[in-house]
Order: sequence, then structure tokens, then C-alpha cells
Amino acid sequence: MQPLAAMTWEEARDAAGPGSVAILPVGAIEAHGPHLPLETDVIIAQAMARAAAARLAARGSSVVVLPPLTYTAAAFAGGFAGTLSLRPETVTATVLDIAAGLARHGFGVLAIANAHLDPGHLASLEAAVSAIRRDLGLAVVFPNLAAKPWALRLTDEFRSGACHAGQFETSVVLAERPELVREATRAALAPNPSSLSRAIRDGKQSFEAAGGDRAYFGFPAQATAEEGRATIEVLGAILDEAVRAELGTETGG
Ligand SMILES: [Zn+2]
Repeated sequence: MQPLAAMTWEEARDAAGPGSVAILPVGAIEAHGPHLPLETDVIIAQAMARAAAARLAARGSSVVVLPPLTYTAAAFAGGFAGTLSLRPETVTATVLDIAAGLARHGFGVLAIANAHLDPGHLASLEAAVSAIRRDLGLAVVFPNLAAKPWALRLTDEFRSGACHAGQFETSVVLAERPELVREATRAALAPNPSSLSRAIRDGKQSFEAAGGDRAYFGFPAQATAEEGRATIEVLGAILDEAVRAELGTETGG
């Protein structure tokens, strides 16, 4: 398993072929409370991609991890400084173009590693997945963590819908990039149990309207690196299982 961007073109040629897997981490540049960096979802997506790649490679799959897509639709956080939100159609077109390159060069499946749950973003990826299947004939997997069956594997806080910059995401950043967590701020943050997913269902369109006036939800003060490491393993297992189901090798594990 190698990062595609570090390979030569001949190494990339040799890594492609039937059954080969290209993992695209997709994050966002988006406000994540007063304690986490704007690139939090990029960090989570890259950890998920790495964990999945290790599992797939251990079973003998040829797997490459693509450079992350670091800009995407993030309208809910649009009012917070530093958030840079793309139009959903830009995201769809970008993912479709990346997939076209992978298909042209013979990769077997595109696996999207994503932990950013903005509804406009999810819709842009679903549109890309449909177009990839219809227009390119490339196999593609995109496990939506907010939906069954995958959500059932994640933490109580995540499933409550208070799943932005809270215990779940903060734990992953503590495991991956602890130097980026504003620790004194994090440890003193009051809980915000407002459910972002319920607010979305009720038609709210921003973190502020959903009750997150500092761009976080949940219980960041309870985050631990240990929980983050466990979450990364679950995220990797989810993507691994989705890929194996797509390739028809589900019973191989
Ligand atoms: Zn996030």
C-alpha cells in the first residue's frame, strides 16, 4: 500500500488492474469548534483510508491511497471564519473527473473514505457515485456513516446526532494529530447535546440554527486518544467491508 502521489507512473500502472482499490479520502475545510483545526474531517478521512488500506493490503489486495479532496460543500459552517465551501455541483464534477482517470488507467474500484456529514456534501457525493456507475462503469463504494448499517457500529454520541467536533471527532484528532488540539480550551468546553442530525431533519440550515453557536456539538471534554484509535479501526473496517462486498469477496475475511 502506497500513497498514489508518491508513486511513479510505472508503479501506478503496476498497482492498477482488476480488483485493485483506490481510496479517496474526502474531508472539508470547515469550522470544528474552538478547539479543533479546520482540517479535522481531512484528518479523519485520511486515518480511515489508511486503516482500510492496511486491512485490504493484508488480504493481498493492490491498494493505493489518493491525495485527499480537502475542499467540499460545507454550507452549515459557512458563517464561521475559515470555512471554505464549494458548490455541491463542483464537488460532484471533481469526484467524477478523478474517477474517470482511475477508470481509464484500469483501477478496479474507487472507495470513498468520508466522515463529513453536511447534507449538501453527502448529496454531492451520492450524485457522483450515481454518475460514476452510470457513465464510467467503475465500481465505487461510499459507505454513508450516518446511515444503517454503518452508524450502528459507531459511538453513542455519534448516533445521537451530536456528531460535529464532539467526543467522536475530537478523539480521532487526539489520536492522529494531538498537537493540533487546543487542549486547555477542549478540556473546559461545556457539553452541547443538541442533535445536529435532528436539526437537519427539521429543516435547519446552519450550525447556528441547529444550536451550535461555536461550531461544536456533543461532549469534546470527554474525548480521549484511546477512543480515537478504536474509532479509526472501526472506520477502517467499515470501508474494508464495503469494498469486499462490492468486489464479491465478502466471505474472504
Ligand atoms: Zn467533522
